[in-house]
Amino acid sequence: MVRGLRCPEDRWAWVEINLDALRQNTAALKRLMDRDTLMMCVVKADAYGHGAVRCAKAMLRAGADQFAVATVAEGVELREAGIRQPIAILSEPPVETVQTIVDHDLSPAVFNQSFALALGECAAAAGKVATYHLAIDTGMTRIGVNWRDALELRRSIDFHRGIECAGTFTHFATADVPRDWDFEMQARRFFDAVDNIDAAGLSTGLVHCANTPATMMHPRVHMDMCRAGIGLYGLYPSAETRKVANLSPVMSVRGRITRVERPEVGTGVSYGLTYRVPRPNIQICTVPIGYADGLSRVLSGNMDVLVNGERCRQVGRICMDQFMFEVSVNNVRAYRPTRAVEYGDVVTILGSDGSETILADDMAARRNTINYEVVCDFGLRLQKIYV
Ligand SMILES: *Cc1c(COP(=O)(O)O)cnc(C)c1O
Repeated sequence: MVRGLRCPEDRWAWVEINLDALRQNTAALKRLMDRDTLMMCVVKADAYGHGAVRCAKAMLRAGADQFAVATVAEGVELREAGIRQPIAILSEPPVETVQTIVDHDLSPAVFNQSFALALGECAAAAGKVATYHLAIDTGMTRIGVNWRDALELRRSIDFHRGIECAGTFTHFATADVPRDWDFEMQARRFFDAVDNIDAAGLSTGLVHCANTPATMMHPRVHMDMCRAGIGLYGLYPSAETRKVANLSPVMSVRGRITRVERPEVGTGVSYGLTYRVPRPNIQICTVPIGYADGLSRVLSGNMDVLVNGERCRQVGRICMDQFMFEVSVNNVRAYRPTRAVEYGDVVTILGSDGSETILADDMAARRNTINYEVVCDFGLRLQKIYV
């Protein structure tokens, strides 16, 4: 049923990344912005589990101007893969990393004077000027200098010739909530802080604050640059954003059946034997994907998979590297009448098979989490196949 299939040779389990969808999503978000607004594509956590280097290169062809990562190592990986665009680090790393940052021309978030000056010293010693993004906390209470103290921090570091402000940014806690008062307050505090820096005659660099929900819902905070993440990967940050642009999921997760049994009624399945075969004519099939691959154990007995275009029920506890599902063969009273499956058949854990689809949002709801975590988790160990 699943066609055009490529599968790793050494393991019947993989993540499929649709680079066409990624390019289309990137272009769709870019279309929401004015012509002169830049697009910073967030590829932290290995591009939310999708593979940072391949994704960044595809995004470049679809309108990406800059990239953002979470750690120094993530930035180095992009540089070593030949990415020349500006790369921001969305947190202030440990001061021990300044040499690596300078060597690779990365632009960290800055909100401590001591870090900023250490960065400047290091850059000056190398005959360079390091760029940074001033991080301002406007109400999320995560990182950044308090909005009231932003100008003061700038004044305390601006004398240093080894550093230059490439950008000034904040991050919203509630951009995904329509008509939210806290969002408005964060935006106002941010604009005030930016105005103060401007009025003092200091350069703010690029002003940016819009994550995916703000990019989609709040054009007036696009400023100089939008900083989109989840939408690039075809996932919506909230129900409201579905109306704004048409995005397609980039990641699918598939495996092949490594064993098919037709056990006697009463036979138990997986650790704890929490499931027992209830009827004759039930096939119990094994797929080599488990919680170490990002398939949360919380989903045990509470998820479906797709085989030959049909939905089948996962049964028993999900193991570290494998799980089982049942196929009720030719049984009208069963979960769904299904034709028998075979060793080697392709199983879709996330994505589409025929007319059936399992979305990251479905899985997230069953796990009591968000689609972001679902795709990040599948990036952990599974080999990625780019299609
Ligand atoms: C992760 C992150 C983003 C991207 O957020 P999305 O909701 O995925 O678009 C933007 N800015 C900062 C500071 C982030 O940490």
